[in-house]
Amino acid sequence: MAGEVLRDITRLCLDLDKRSAEIYSHMASLSDKPEFKKFWQQMSAEERMHVKFWKEIAEMADRGILPNVFENPEKTRRELEDIQAKVNATWDTFRQAPEKASPFLLAYRMEFYLLHPALGTLFHYMKGISTEDNPLDTYEEHLAQLNEMIIKHGPINPEMELLAEVIQALWKRNRELARRSAIDELTDVFNRRGFFDTITPLLHLSQRHQYPVAVMMIDIDDFKRVNDTYGHQTGDKVLKGVATILRNNVRSSDIVGRYGGEEFITFFNDVEREMICGIAETIREKIARKSHGAVTVTVSIGLAQGKIHHYVQDEIMHLIHRADESLYRAKQSGKNMVIID
Ligand code: GH3
Ligand code: MG
Ligand code: MG
Repeated sequence: MAGEVLRDITRLCLDLDKRSAEIYSHMASLSDKPEFKKFWQQMSAEERMHVKFWKEIAEMADRGILPNVFENPEKTRRELEDIQAKVNATWDTFRQAPEKASPFLLAYRMEFYLLHPALGTLFHYMKGISTEDNPLDTYEEHLAQLNEMIIKHGPINPEMELLAEVIQALWKRNRELARRSAIDELTDVFNRRGFFDTITPLLHLSQRHQYPVAVMMIDIDDFKRVNDTYGHQTGDKVLKGVATILRNNVRSSDIVGRYGGEEFITFFNDVEREMICGIAETIREKIARKSHGAVTVTVSIGLAQGKIHHYVQDEIMHLIHRADESLYRAKQSGKNMVIID
């Protein structure tokens, strides 16, 4: 049931983006000035780039591995359906009498609809699991270009100016909200809540198919000394750097989270012991080799691997506990090492 709603939501988002690409491309074909033509073409191209993202997310929903990131999925689906109906109606009106309507106003309307929190939430979710270019990184620019174009060529009146301000403020607020719910602000990996929300459907899947999973706990060695010696800001940079190395060295299906202050956790789906040992060793080496400004740090890593047999929640907590024990042993044995349970 929930899976079906999630699938509908991803389809609706995909449709919305496709439709806006189509609208912008139609505007390009109506424009007689080359400058406008180029502008609308670019707006359309940017929306089409997002379409690729939606396809990926929709596919995850089909496979049942998209966690429910919505507090109220049914409500979200209803809202998106409403938006879809409104977009279609607006679009019909515009097509019938394009000379009477302002394309800029229509564009604002589209961007307003695209700011529905569902889209931002899903983009954020993808930011946590994929290192590919994320629309969140370019959306601000996309809106800024629209505003700039309107200020330069559009009907500059107080209403349009207010619209521009409202859209930008909404975007910023949405981004903030989605971010706070699942992603750690400093490091851009999942926070603890986002991590558990994300791995839950994967755990059920692994239990159903009986493939092995693994947990990796990573703790920065002597991090207190980094802060004390170089300051908190440098400490933050180190945390970001470690998170980046982590994300870049696991598969896109593996889930990275910040577990606590200077401790990270990674969940591996369908993985053998030798493989995670290899990945962990690579990560340990890369972190030790990289300097963050004047600072280099090392990490200790604890691993545990196994199958989820019956009780998903209890068993994952047990696996995390085992990984934690391995981490403790790594610390006891002199740090800067990987130990597997
Ligand atoms: P060990 O090798 O045993 O892990 O020693 P440690 O110094 O790394 O561990 P300890 O738990 O004593 O210290 C962790 C430090 O991490 C203390 C805390 O101030 C720092 N820390 C936690 N969160 C943040 C953060 O967000 N930014 C910065 N800069 N430091 C943080
Ligand atoms: Mg530490
Ligand atoms: Mg610690």
